[in-house]
Amino acid sequence: MRAGGPIRVGAVSDCLFCRMVAGDVPADVVHQTDRVFAFRDINPQAPTHVLVIPKEHHPTVAALAAADPGLLGAVVGAAQTVAVQEGLVGDDGVEPGYRVVTNTGPQAGQTVHHVHLHLLGGRRLSWPPG
Ligand code: AMP
Ligand code: ZN
Repeated sequence: MRAGGPIRVGAVSDCLFCRMVAGDVPADVVHQTDRVFAFRDINPQAPTHVLVIPKEHHPTVAALAAADPGLLGAVVGAAQTVAVQEGLVGDDGVEPGYRVVTNTGPQAGQTVHHVHLHLLGGRRLSWPPG
């Protein structure tokens, strides 16, 4: 075996979110499947602030869309599942509502280069965002 253990397919060893998926860094997990992972943001900006990610490493939402559109669909579907679980939407799937945000690049404030949807809700969200 390679020094430092086996190589994980689809994981980037110095990526914080890959390390959370692997269980090397603790995460407050609210939902997961074989392909997606959702956990509470450590610095919440709303009563519900959950990050929804693919378990596989992709740097941005556009990179994920190009590489695996089905997985992007699964990530969006997981955001809706968590929104229902958190009481952000009822049976109609819409009311009272939530926001999904994904930042790409420094001007938008992306700090972790493993694509993540911010799922925000539980309070009125103003528009335009800051
Ligand atoms: P962004 O700035 O859009 O790349 O979002 C990265 C998010 O990751 C920020 O909202 C951080 O608060 C969040 N974050 C950073 N470290 C952790 C962690 N260890 N657990 C949960 N969320 C984290
Ligand atoms: Zn990663």
